[in-house]
Amino acid sequence: MNQAAIKQIFAEEHVSYSAISKYKMCPRSYRFRYVDRAAPETRASALVFGSSIHESLAHFYGKLRDNEPEPSLEELTKVFSEYFNIELTKPVPVIFGEKESAEGLIETGTEMLRVFLEEAERPHRVVAVESPFSVELIDPETGEVLPPRLVGVFDAVVQDADGRFRILEHKTAGKRWAQSRIENDMQITAYTHVAPLVGYGNADVTIQILLKQKKAAFETYSPTRTDSDRADFIETAVGILRAVEAEAFYPNRDWQCKSCSFAGRCRCGR
Ligand code: SF4
Repeated sequence: MNQAAIKQIFAEEHVSYSAISKYKMCPRSYRFRYVDRAAPETRASALVFGSSIHESLAHFYGKLRDNEPEPSLEELTKVFSEYFNIELTKPVPVIFGEKESAEGLIETGTEMLRVFLEEAERPHRVVAVESPFSVELIDPETGEVLPPRLVGVFDAVVQDADGRFRILEHKTAGKRWAQSRIENDMQITAYTHVAPLVGYGNADVTIQILLKQKKAAFETYSPTRTDSDRADFIETAVGILRAVEAEAFYPNRDWQCKSCSFAGRCRCGR
């Protein structure tokens, strides 16, 4: 992983796609996380599980990028389970679902990685893995370059045989994405906005989803995005930055409260 480069872009004044997404989900939790910089009280098992799978897939694409032999299932499982077990030893407690256990999740993850190895495409060329980016954000109304830069990390960048670049984004999910999500997911739009600015031309984004179901499954989505989608993304990002400036940190109580890392702090009425 390109740790030094990632550290550097996150050291500058920035806003990440995750922060934008956090604000959209609940402005109050954004405040706890990014303004108060409060320590999380808990971590959802899904988050730790997803990061562990992510780490394993980064290992897989790293080997392909370096033209090394493709990792076996045992190797991928080792990376996944070691990462997962280390996360469990960290001080912030992991909250498991009713029927979940650490052992069960390791079994599930192993099965998901097996399906991934069986079904995932092998790209023509892997150009970069965990590739950080940092681009200017421009207010569409005023043309003003905003102080925070838009930063993030592409999971993997590949180049197809026709020379076109493509960004791979890895996800774990409990169920298939609905068509409306595929059509409107803002991370995909953000990445198609960023790609030409960092030298990847009109790269498409392929979402690779490992489904954490009774029977593990692997799906990919490669939706297209238009200039109008990208203009909406910028307007959303800039709108959120303006709302943060105005300290609009209202709570949004909904399904996400159940696994919110700041639920105790929130319910204390702060
Ligand atoms: S508990 Fe719900 S309303 Fe409160 S910060 Fe978390 S997500 Fe927002």
